Amino acid sequence: MNLILLGPPGAGKGTQAKLLSARFNIPQISTGEILRSAVRESTVMGVRAKGFMDSGSLVPDEVVVGIVEERLLKADCQNGFILDGFPRTIPQADALGQTLQGLGKDLNHVIAITVDTNELIARITGRRTCIKCGKGYHITFDPPKVDGVCDLCGSDLCQRDDDKEETLRMRLQVYDKQTEPLISYYTAQSLVRTVLGQGSIEDIQRSIINLVEERA
Ligand code: ADP
Ligand code: ADP
Ligand code: ZN
Repeated sequence: MNLILLGPPGAGKGTQAKLLSARFNIPQISTGEILRSAVRESTVMGVRAKGFMDSGSLVPDEVVVGIVEERLLKADCQNGFILDGFPRTIPQADALGQTLQGLGKDLNHVIAITVDTNELIARITGRRTCIKCGKGYHITFDPPKVDGVCDLCGSDLCQRDDDKEETLRMRLQVYDKQTEPLISYYTAQSLVRTVLGQGSIEDIQRSIINLVEERA
């Protein structure tokens, strides 16, 4: 099953992708996570990407397209994958289409997750992430058992640099301008299924599973 999760920052893509990945045993491919780890390790790509990420704009298409092309070749993508945060522009979607064609794969579903802007802001400003295993939390909506400590691995939680209010507004604008047009792009290919991303994490997961199993 080859899936794209599409939605604005804070829609719950990462949260839902991790649950789907565990359930269907297919990898989550998060370009944001791959880029953040490149920044932490100060690789050539990380150094190049950092300025774009800090300002809330998109990293150039060729950088992220390269990441995804390489990732899709790995053996664990054989039975499917969940793209989280990619594609984010029409040229990225075109490049993905070509890559998949070259690999003899099709996209099965594009799940568009919708959430009100005010809720997105509340979610992003309260988002925390485990520095070691990457599990996501929310200080109010999905708190860890012990403040600031990951339930799964006991490591510290941190706030992303780009989750501060100023950068966040820029990211929401970038989404509207550059990424939202992908909904029409994939609607034209009859791939889009929309899920209301508000309510409990479990209920939303169930809605997504229902949608993908319907068309599996
Ligand atoms: P995205 O990957 O789309 O940016 P995340 O999955 O990181 O979004 O979720 C953003 C924040 O909202 C996180 O702090 C997460 O814990 C929280 N969150 C995710 N889903 C829900 C939900 N259904 N209700 C409330 N908070 C949620
Ligand atoms: P969120 O889950 O909040 O939407 P991500 O973790 O997906 O955020 O992305 C964080 C940042 O990484 C983006 O603001 C952007 O700078 C960069 N990034 C991630 N994915 C892409 C992509 N597909 N194209 C360009 N930039 C990207
Ligand atoms: Zn952890």
